[in-house]
Amino acid sequence: GDLLDRECIEHAIRTWSPVAVLHFAALSLVSESVRNPGLYWRNNVTGTLNLIQAMVGAGCLRMVFSSTCSIYGETDGLPVTENSPELPGNPYAATKRASEDMLLAFRDSHGLESVRFRYFNVAGADPDCEIGEHHRPETHLVPLVLNAIMDEGGQLEVFGTDYPTPDGTCIRDYIHVSDLVDAHILGLKRLLHTNNGQLYNLGAGRGHSVREVIRECREVTQRNVPVKVSARRPGDVSCLVSGSDRAEDELGWRRRRSDLRTIIKDAWNWHLNGGFSG
Ligand code: UDP
Repeated sequence: GDLLDRECIEHAIRTWSPVAVLHFAALSLVSESVRNPGLYWRNNVTGTLNLIQAMVGAGCLRMVFSSTCSIYGETDGLPVTENSPELPGNPYAATKRASEDMLLAFRDSHGLESVRFRYFNVAGADPDCEIGEHHRPETHLVPLVLNAIMDEGGQLEVFGTDYPTPDGTCIRDYIHVSDLVDAHILGLKRLLHTNNGQLYNLGAGRGHSVREVIRECREVTQRNVPVKVSARRPGDVSCLVSGSDRAEDELGWRRRRSDLRTIIKDAWNWHLNGGFSG
């Protein structure tokens, strides 16, 4: 169902009476949100409001929510914790912040408890190659580098080499999707067992520049990556790295596959094994 279809969502919640909801559905492209903010506010915020209202109406009071590190916005280059200042620098980030605020308001009014995960840059693939990263259009760095390697005549555009970082390209914190999944299971268990919500950063705690990602992809694949330098992409910030151990300390979360090499190896294996063939 569509979260903008209130009746459909209410019907689904009433029919299934879930003990908790994991809410992933959202639009999530920064540059698209800059071009078309109305789309993002309607889909992400109204959609989340519809879901929350359907949940509280049916007495379902636990949610695991996918949020984003882009809520922190432009940083001073230092790792960010859950207590760092929030400066959402684009409409996508603003809609996620608003959704988090909404969850806290409904906690106070209706007792809705939520675990809010601020994802850093999720990448990699299921190590068994069953599920990998595929978007239409693809906008994310790791799959785009691998596509540029695989496609004849392919090329990777580097969006900006004049950022205030050591090599001039943006720095991000890449987290393996399998580790992200583990965190969701732990977050759900926390809600079911303690009924206490919380906010957690989910990152690897290490930053890599765009050029470093490209270099690592070259080494893993042993193939060349044709590169073209382009202008900065609207809405991008120079550096975002997680500096928090809260998820480890409170949830017992352990990152097993989030070093850059393993992330790229798993993504590359998935690409080599047919990737998305649907
Ligand atoms: N990037 C790039 N070329 C691309 C796609 C991304 O240079 O074709 C850069 C982008 O500017 C950002 C980083 O790679 O600094 C990660 O971008 P991505 O879209 O993967 O994730 P985001 O950080 O926007 O969520």
